[in-house]
Amino acid sequence: MINQNWHTLSGEETLEALQTSPAGLSTEEIAARKEKYGPNELQEKGGKNPLKMLWEQFTQTMVLILLAAAVISFFLGETIETIAILAIVVLFAVLGFVQEFRAEKAMAALKKMSVPTVRVRRGNKVQEIAAPELVPGDILLLEAGNIIPADMRLLESASLRVQEAALTGEAEAVEKFSQALEIEDLPLGDRKNMAYLGTNVTYGRGVGIVTGTGMQTELGKIATLLQEVKNLQTPLQQRLDRLGKMLALIGAGAAALMLGIGVLLGESPEEMFLTAISLAVAVVPEGLPAVVTITLAIGAKRMLKRHALIRKLPAAETLGSVTVICSDKTGTLTENRMTATTLKLPDQHVELEDLQEKSGHSETVKMALCIGAWCNDATLSTNPEHEEFTIIGDPTEGALLVAAARAGLQCHFENMPRVGEYPFDSDRKRMSTVHRLPENSPGSFFEFWRDTNFMAFTKGSVDGLLEISSHIWVNGQTEKLSEAWLNQMQQANEALAREGVRVLGLAYKTLSELPQKPEADLEQDLIFVGMIGMIDPPRAAVKPAVAQCRKAGIRPIMITGDHPLTAAAIARELGITENFKALNGEALLQLSEEELREAVKEVSVFARVSPEDKLRIISALQANGEVVAMTGDGVNDAPALKKANIGVAMGITGTDVAKEASDMVLLDDNFATIVAAVEEGRVIYDNLLRFIKFSLGGNLGKVFVMLAAPLFGVHIALRPLQLLWLNLLTDGLMGLGLGTEPAEKNTMSRPPRHPDQPVLTAPDLRYVLWSGFLIGIISLGTGYFYYDPGNPQDQTWQTMIFATIGFTQIGNAFGLRANVKKPFSVKTNPLFMLMTFVTIGLQLLAIYFPPLQKTFGLAPLTAQQLGISFGLGILLFIANGLERMLNKK
Ligand code: ATP
Repeated sequence: MINQNWHTLSGEETLEALQTSPAGLSTEEIAARKEKYGPNELQEKGGKNPLKMLWEQFTQTMVLILLAAAVISFFLGETIETIAILAIVVLFAVLGFVQEFRAEKAMAALKKMSVPTVRVRRGNKVQEIAAPELVPGDILLLEAGNIIPADMRLLESASLRVQEAALTGEAEAVEKFSQALEIEDLPLGDRKNMAYLGTNVTYGRGVGIVTGTGMQTELGKIATLLQEVKNLQTPLQQRLDRLGKMLALIGAGAAALMLGIGVLLGESPEEMFLTAISLAVAVVPEGLPAVVTITLAIGAKRMLKRHALIRKLPAAETLGSVTVICSDKTGTLTENRMTATTLKLPDQHVELEDLQEKSGHSETVKMALCIGAWCNDATLSTNPEHEEFTIIGDPTEGALLVAAARAGLQCHFENMPRVGEYPFDSDRKRMSTVHRLPENSPGSFFEFWRDTNFMAFTKGSVDGLLEISSHIWVNGQTEKLSEAWLNQMQQANEALAREGVRVLGLAYKTLSELPQKPEADLEQDLIFVGMIGMIDPPRAAVKPAVAQCRKAGIRPIMITGDHPLTAAAIARELGITENFKALNGEALLQLSEEELREAVKEVSVFARVSPEDKLRIISALQANGEVVAMTGDGVNDAPALKKANIGVAMGITGTDVAKEASDMVLLDDNFATIVAAVEEGRVIYDNLLRFIKFSLGGNLGKVFVMLAAPLFGVHIALRPLQLLWLNLLTDGLMGLGLGTEPAEKNTMSRPPRHPDQPVLTAPDLRYVLWSGFLIGIISLGTGYFYYDPGNPQDQTWQTMIFATIGFTQIGNAFGLRANVKKPFSVKTNPLFMLMTFVTIGLQLLAIYFPPLQKTFGLAPLTAQQLGISFGLGILLFIANGLERMLNKK
């Protein structure tokens, strides 16, 4: 369907050219087109090339140092050593590569999950499908917040505005229309009856016909990525990268120094070279990058299980230091299951429950309910058997439709065609529709509007609506909206809101002609009809989650577009606040930056805020040193989601634009899920820290052994090969086991970690130092004990060092697990126990299996010797326990 000039065709011509109709394509046609055009996807170019990934593994500082060690061993004639070092380099590189590759794959899979769904008309039915399913000729329904999922010619536009920066670089949204254009070679930005893949609907509604999909779109031509899920390094990863490089360089430096001194002192250069290599190998934390990547990836997976989809990997870590969670109310804290309960009219108060179907309602009641049903974008489907309604669309609007239907009102939808509108937005907090009145009014309250051609209906926040109303409808008459009426209506609104009820005002206006500019012509001089109150119960899981938050030192804050009293009532019910303190958008505007910084320390409920206010609130919180998670769903929320430390988008009700701007998506829209993700974030950080303490302590021990050995007259305590093996088992296997530990009991009952806190705090550093020295002293001491200068061929002493380092490291790992109270409980982390058995098994194999034994230059230990070595391992576990006891005191 290559036609570069869709914009010059009329709507009908486009339909004809694409062989479709406003009712949409048939099932057979869709299948045929899918076959012909393939899925509506861009071919990815952003993914990393596997070869490049592999190459990067080999060019890391650590690996380069190991490679240098291999080359030197080769020239020293140490063939086995050379091969072994190379083998381990390859092993680590492959492991690193596999990890990164898998992480990339996992992110790609996550990305697939965040593919937007779109609304199409097919076979005369509106359906929701995944964007890749679209084919040319599909009829697509657009609304604010959609990312345009394909190229399309617009058939309808109701104030549709599209932001096309992705394509044209123009940040300002463009108003779209459906009329054909004349000039053929218009630049894309001027084709105002077209909408292009990758651009965003910022406002209004529209209908379009898909003209191009996937690579046959304008964006496909320039083939950038629509939805890039960024695989950034986390702050900790960056710091660890630097640490790893630094250690590698220190290792290389220390080795060179040792070599120089040794040779100067007249030692054999060959021996000294070998020692130097060993030292370098001992320092380099070979397992570090792989374990960190795996731990993060596993953490992200655990979060997904709890319905939090991580879009940017650094979020998995940042979540652990969140201090404030700012949450929307409707749908996140509450269920977004609205039920209209009360109708408050100037002359009547009606409990909707009491309103019997088809009984003689007053004209005003009918009018109010019908205005709610007309000024409405939702639809109801009824199941006559169960008398149940299914709402398609916004729950608030659905509740209004249900209220009218329950009252048995017909509302004559077909006689009142909608001919114009001013769509809802969360800044104005209202919407208006324009309808043509029927020629022969079907009786009842239509009588009042007999002399008019058009009607405009407006519904929205009562406070706002009263401001733009000049009259009020009382007892079938319009009256001036006097001060007294104004007060009375405001009080009624507040009384309802105080009960936690969401209140919508209803108003109308008669028009003699169709308004040209809805923004200018509607929403002024309205006639206020009344208000309708609806309840939206809090989600069951939220109250305990709020309590958990508080225990974890995290402050929950409610930020909502709803009325301050409604907001405060719900906030109190959920335990977010004890008082009725709520700041509203207007008051917020009056505050200076400093005043706002003070206010956000106190106030936990912000109501009637606009998305722009959200930005100010985040800035104030961040200026106070808080780490902020902020939820959002609308287009206008995108800047706030980007600005927050963790932008959280709603998975169900969120717009594509909000999801795109977020770090994390809540698949179930539930506040409790944010808290669960925070917990997982803390677990990830704990585990990384655990692993780092373990790995650094072990390496320190090995370096100590190497450096102190000459004091006992031993040149090379451990050979490079033996050290590599130990690093592989401990850092690699045991490290992995530690990286997957479950949550500590106190994970959510301690304050959040400060984001600027160094990786290792003073106590952590102390732990690394003493555990490292202990491992070193014990291992070297045992070696010394078994060292027999009279029998230099006997390798028992070296094997004892080798075995003891292994066992003490395992003991250390046992001490560092989460919930160490039950020392040998397998229940805590099966992978850890498995790794322990594998490590011990491999150690025994190296010591007792002759070919390995020979390669490693080890001697078989007696049962007693092995027992001693094992016992020393337990000693480390005990030392760890003592430290914990001391710390507690
Ligand atoms: P939250 O920000 O917590 O999700 P919210 O859903 O109340 O809360 P908005 O959707 O911005 O926030 O709504 C703000 C206000 O706009 C509501 O309190 C209501 O007065 C009004 N409003 C909401 N939905 C509609 C609608 N469909 N038509 C007219 N007015 C609406």
